[in-house]
Amino acid sequence: MGVKPPPSGATGGPPDTIRHFGRAVLRWYRQHGRHDLPWQVKGDPYRVWVSEIMLQQTQVATVIPFYERFIRRFPDVVTLARARVDTVLSYWTGLGYYARARNLHRAARIILKEHDGVFPDEFGSVLALPGIGKSTAGAILSLASDQRHPILDGNVRRVLARYFAVAGETSRKDIQAALWQHAEAVLPKRDTLAAPFNQAMMDLGALVCTRSKPQCRVCPLVGNCQAYALGTPDAFPTRGNKPARPTREVTFIILTDPKGRVLLERRPASGIWGGLWGFPECSLGETPVHWCQHRFHIRATGSAALPVMHHGFTHYVLKIHPQPLRVSHAAGAKIEGRDRVWLYPGAPGRRGLAAPIKQLLEQLDKKHE
Ligand code: SF4
Repeated sequence: MGVKPPPSGATGGPPDTIRHFGRAVLRWYRQHGRHDLPWQVKGDPYRVWVSEIMLQQTQVATVIPFYERFIRRFPDVVTLARARVDTVLSYWTGLGYYARARNLHRAARIILKEHDGVFPDEFGSVLALPGIGKSTAGAILSLASDQRHPILDGNVRRVLARYFAVAGETSRKDIQAALWQHAEAVLPKRDTLAAPFNQAMMDLGALVCTRSKPQCRVCPLVGNCQAYALGTPDAFPTRGNKPARPTREVTFIILTDPKGRVLLERRPASGIWGGLWGFPECSLGETPVHWCQHRFHIRATGSAALPVMHHGFTHYVLKIHPQPLRVSHAAGAKIEGRDRVWLYPGAPGRRGLAAPIKQLLEQLDKKHE
């Protein structure tokens, strides 16, 4: 399928339809939109930025408590830039997609170095920061600084794809270009309307034009929505045939010393769970005791394996085999180091932990109670 041409002209529809779009969405927003989100603070691009990064792939209700804790600990760019990446990751623990936190931290350091600690207000400079794409840059500058920029996050993409019946997978460049063109066309011309309009579009996608079962009857756009007229809102945006996610397997080596402490090590900065702390890992084909001998030059003795866990990533599912092993004090002392630490499962300290690691530590802590 290709892109269905806009109803008329290159801007996505006749001028009165476009004007109606903006007016209808803004009117709906005044009555039904979300006006009291904690990051809706005019003139504070830092807060909007943090919220926009957290909201990527994550729902508002999940984000709010994380956002509030994060802002209490890192109230401004400079505090964030000066914090250790470990501390930043620890405040992200449970939110997932940790590259977002690492990029946020890197970007804060760039802002401190290159912009004197002041969040830039020029589109190109914002876009140049790590972890910020065109839509996020537009959201930050429109919501915080009343600049006129369109946005195209997942919610807005869905509304526009349906309203204009844009057929074709949204990963395609031509489809993205068509959607950006529509996003620009429907954005009201007045700068001061960009913030409420963009917020309204995000809310409309999240609350009314939902992924499944959109509530067209209460939608302010129902009068001119092409997907509604076709009777097939669910068919837009076009979903690709996603192949089933493959499964990868790994053994987590849970080394335990006589005090009941376990060994965690910091993972490399890149790759999955980059920079977070976790249990040492070996492949399923290896015998854990032999692996410890080879990797750490210590003798460990086996205990019963813990139940298998599954953790979903975007592209695969990780099947985890947690294997506890006991080591002596002397052996434990041999392998402690800068990026390896023995700690009590109930007291991991301020360290970034991926969800399964956190879950296993909680289980181990309960076992020792
Ligand atoms: S009418 Fe239905 S499909 Fe169209 S924009 Fe509104 S909720 Fe979405």
